[in-house]
Amino acid sequence: MAMDTIELLRTVTDAFGPSGFEDEPRDVIRALVEPLADEVTVDTLGNLLVTKRGKSDTTFMLDAHMDEIGFMITWIEEGGFLRFQPIGGWDARIIPSHALTILSDDGTKIKGAIGTPPPHVLRPEDRDKPFKIEDLFVDIGADSADEVHARGIRIGSPAVIAYPFEQLGDQRVMAKALDDRAGCAVMIRTLEALQNDDLDVTFVAAFTVQEEVGLRGAGTAAWQIDPDIAIALEGTIAADVPGVPAPRQPTRQGLGPSIRIMDSGMIGMPKMIRALASTAEEAGIPFQYQVPAPGGTDAGAIHRTRAGVLSGAVSTPCRYIHAPCSVMRLDDFENTVRLVTEFVRRCPGVVGM
Ligand SMILES: [Zn+2]
Repeated sequence: MAMDTIELLRTVTDAFGPSGFEDEPRDVIRALVEPLADEVTVDTLGNLLVTKRGKSDTTFMLDAHMDEIGFMITWIEEGGFLRFQPIGGWDARIIPSHALTILSDDGTKIKGAIGTPPPHVLRPEDRDKPFKIEDLFVDIGADSADEVHARGIRIGSPAVIAYPFEQLGDQRVMAKALDDRAGCAVMIRTLEALQNDDLDVTFVAAFTVQEEVGLRGAGTAAWQIDPDIAIALEGTIAADVPGVPAPRQPTRQGLGPSIRIMDSGMIGMPKMIRALASTAEEAGIPFQYQVPAPGGTDAGAIHRTRAGVLSGAVSTPCRYIHAPCSVMRLDDFENTVRLVTEFVRRCPGVVGM
């Protein structure tokens, strides 16, 4: 039986999975999707590929990345403090003073605090300056490097900021890793919705790895799937918050899924944008065109695979992505599932294939 939406979002966002260490999200997702698929495979890099065969070999690839931005422990001080470097695109100003979860060699999750010198001991001229990541350290409560090693932490141990999933009122949730576990959850829900459909296309849901360090998993996933049509799903930038003028808000919450127009990795293909918009209009699903901003999605890698793939990107607006915790609206999430499900049902005809 399918999980309710809150439990689904809790399960996928609480999973520990910075880029290159996606085992835990892959295991929880695999358990949820295995009953819905004709075939499930995991490739060398760790992409989870879930196939539902249709009436033709025309192949539709739906993509969401499992990895989240995180950290790697890169040095252990004699006194037991840990130094670290980012995995993926962090804003160094917002890292200090958060709690961290570090995965030890035996699979234990060890908590620590990202420490900073107290303001009392900073020189006056340094008080207004942001900390640099190389000046930060983690305190796991150890008194020596030997104690750190005994607990299974070494150079190379992965970490994420610790934020358990929470519901905020009736309509919003707060969690780490909504970029892109929101997309993973949309894809799980889409597989559930299509369970009894006899599709015109062969449908492959690709839960990919290492997006946050350069769309690495999506490239090899697309090469082997060899799709005719592809959509990348994201939890994308919602900037409908105080201090950001409307023209600089890529998306706003409550207006439904966004259709990507242009980013650093792809110029939206007009045929795909029209097909997505007409699907939403016919099915009565709210949507918004995403105001172009830097950044990108897995579609940036997928559309350049082999001889090129007709690609698009659809996203659920999330506030505070690439930060310790993000906020998403549940109706935006449900409307993203509806748009993607209706679009897959209409393929390949809706894109003129
Ligand atoms: Zn993402």
